[in-house]
Amino acid sequence: MLFSLRKTPAGSEAQPLLDLADRLGYRARFLGAGRRVLELVREDGTPGDAADRSRFEDFALVAGVLDASDAPERTERRADRKATVVRVGDAVFSDDTVSLIAGPCAVEDQDDLIEIAAGVREAGATLLRGGAFKPRTSPHAFRGLGEAGLEMLVRAREATGLAFVTEVLDPRDVELVAGAADALQIGSRSMSNQVLLREAASSGKPILLKRGLAATVREFLLAAETVLDAGNPNVILCERGVRSFDSVTRNLLDLGAVAHLTTATHLPVIADPSHAAGKSHLVPPLARAALAAGAAGLIVEVHPAPHTVHSDGAQAISIETFAELAAAARAIAPLVGRRFIDGTDSRPLRVTEPDLAPRAIERTAP
Ligand code: PEP
Ligand code: MN
Repeated sequence: MLFSLRKTPAGSEAQPLLDLADRLGYRARFLGAGRRVLELVREDGTPGDAADRSRFEDFALVAGVLDASDAPERTERRADRKATVVRVGDAVFSDDTVSLIAGPCAVEDQDDLIEIAAGVREAGATLLRGGAFKPRTSPHAFRGLGEAGLEMLVRAREATGLAFVTEVLDPRDVELVAGAADALQIGSRSMSNQVLLREAASSGKPILLKRGLAATVREFLLAAETVLDAGNPNVILCERGVRSFDSVTRNLLDLGAVAHLTTATHLPVIADPSHAAGKSHLVPPLARAALAAGAAGLIVEVHPAPHTVHSDGAQAISIETFAELAAAARAIAPLVGRRFIDGTDSRPLRVTEPDLAPRAIERTAP
């Protein structure tokens, strides 16, 4: 590890840092004429540890890590590391598959939710999405149905056999949401919330991590690194568009990042064309482009009556349009060396009448 120092250390100024290095088993050497670079090498020759590195970075004397591009070690794709395969219900997110996630932005109505779940599964989706806890830009906007929304998702899973992913916003809700959901979404607005990332990771459920509105790819990978560091290897990265100067789309879908990430990390990378587009007619072309760029799947907002919903109606596509999009995904997947995981191939779809009795969601202790 190489650290640049803010100034030439005077007297015993570097001593606390050197003491820590000694305790952790590193040999220290000052480099450069002004002793402004510090090299730390493990005595047993093994590479430095990311956790150690951040302890050294905390010293006021340390200006930065000179090999910072290597920092997200655990997310890095390396020849000696197998690509991560994340399974949620029937969906498989990996190096050589395409899986589709679809559903409403927010859970608002039980019958609509079951209609959507059945429709998207019949079209080929393998995972249902829907927010019970909604992050909103305005404090006055609809914030989701909370626990009642989770119960609706549980009933939709029972009725259609489709597993679901839903967002958790608050570390205090992780046990509750993880007690119901098959995977946890960490939304854009929460990407850099370390406390939430660690708490969600410790639930053991797969994490669908969305890129922050203005996060660099490196910051995105470091957020994923936090989940891996907390002992949860099952992370799906999701590019959902970043802030741009142009309002023609809601966000700018960064397909360069998708293409880059598929080579830079062993984690599966999917795309969310809905929050990128902001307008329903732009969702299918962005979805096709993301798959062509190498995405391992898509998460798409679908609603049969978008004018009735409280959140993101303008970007919701119909079940019919989703079926066309799934057909395109089936065609594109083999062209980019991937196998389409088809919801229509799994257990026969038998939509059962929902049992409307309250569902007791058991909190999972981490
Ligand atoms: C969502 O998935 O509905 C959502 C709020 O997404 P994002 O965090 O990407 O804005
Ligand atoms: Mn939404």
